[in-house]
Amino acid sequence: MRFELTEDQKEIKKAIAELTDRYIAPVADELDKESRYPEENLKLLAQQGYMGMTFPETLGGIGADFVAYTICVEEISRGCASTGVIFEVHQSLAGWPILYYGTEEQKHRFIPKMATGEILGAFALTEPGAGSDAASIRTQAVKDGDHYVLNGRKCFISGSGKAGLYVVIAYTDKEAGSRGMSAFLVEAGTPGMSYGKPEDKMGIRASTTADLILEDVRVPAKNLLGKEGEGFKIALSTLDGGRIGIAAQAVGIARAAYEKARDYALKREQFGKPIASFQAIQWMLADMATDIEAAQLLTYRAAYLKQTGARFSKEAAMAKLFASRMAVHHTSQALQIHGGYGYMREYQVERHMRDAKITEIYEGTSEVMRLVISAQILKEAGAGR
Ligand SMILES: Cc1cc2nc3c(=O)[nH]c(=O)nc-3n(C[C@H](O)[C@H](O)[C@H](O)COP(=O)(O)OP(=O)(O)OC[C@H]3O[C@@H](n4cnc5c(N)ncnc54)[C@H](O)[C@@H]3O)c2cc1C
Repeated sequence: MRFELTEDQKEIKKAIAELTDRYIAPVADELDKESRYPEENLKLLAQQGYMGMTFPETLGGIGADFVAYTICVEEISRGCASTGVIFEVHQSLAGWPILYYGTEEQKHRFIPKMATGEILGAFALTEPGAGSDAASIRTQAVKDGDHYVLNGRKCFISGSGKAGLYVVIAYTDKEAGSRGMSAFLVEAGTPGMSYGKPEDKMGIRASTTADLILEDVRVPAKNLLGKEGEGFKIALSTLDGGRIGIAAQAVGIARAAYEKARDYALKREQFGKPIASFQAIQWMLADMATDIEAAQLLTYRAAYLKQTGARFSKEAAMAKLFASRMAVHHTSQALQIHGGYGYMREYQVERHMRDAKITEIYEGTSEVMRLVISAQILKEAGAGR
């Protein structure tokens, strides 16, 4: 068993950490306060090749492995969790299903533009009446000659109105239940598409989240992703991988809060000494450092399993469940270490606390993660009898 990153992964980690410290972290507070989309960060990531980092070189990417990508989500999120989720959705929720299920023609048409950052990818599954219960979506796609006509309303879509390409899940055969769902590649600007007002969110405020409205949107049949009826499978397998990115985002957010709390504890004096000399504070810092490493190990293990083609659903769910809970708890502890100052926006630790919460919700809530884990462990136990 090896716990070392490869030389390539170490190099990528160093490069993305430097980029984050120099450019991404310094603007995060301002982006959050203004709820401003991080165009400058995305441009920078594109210029440096990160927007296509998991895409093959033949399609304009740099062909980095999944562990390296996971490290990048963590580091970027350490600086700015909003930029982290935009990066994650682009690579994992949009890029991955095209590479895995797409035709050669689809890959060549979309991936090179995604690799340069010319277009951003988005993923549209959730609807007002269908969150955890994804099979209850109502969006329909009806075949009409060499097109499908899409009608429906997606909600809470990250990047809605900003992305150039949407992976949209819709029913092509409602009677067939979840086996009647299909996935489509819908290009921004297709007549009939419109976007809701950006949601006013608690955290990740610099990322846009909005409805995606589809009214008689004619999508060419060549934009069907995978086969008719494979939409549910595509959505679930895409989210399986996506969860590793969200676990990494949680680790990144927790690290940012921990580093601020540690440095503050060394500087802040009460009763004539730095508060870091009080055992209560030392123990909080020790718990934070330990839990962050535990979450990081679970996350890297899930990423490694995915990268090597092994089964990873349960491990991805465990990583997300643990890392998101850890991030919510320890960002709050980091604020506690700051005392009243932590409650002030100026110290930025409250931003980490607000940003952390979403990691327990999107790409499957913590309750859904427990359903995934328990189904698997009970199946494994049953198979052994
Ligand atoms: C900021 C943000 C960005 C998002 N981005 C995207 C995106 O890009 N694309 C996309 O498609 N979606 C996106 N989502 C949607 C997100 O994935 C859903 O919000 C999430 O899956 C939960 O669905 P819901 O909000 O409808 O909650 P519900 O499913 O209604 O759940 C409500 C509560 O009930 C619990 N619950 C539900 N079912 C069960 C059960 N069987 N057992 C136990 N507990 C249960 C849940 O865990 C939760 O606590 C985003 C959401 C947010 C807030």
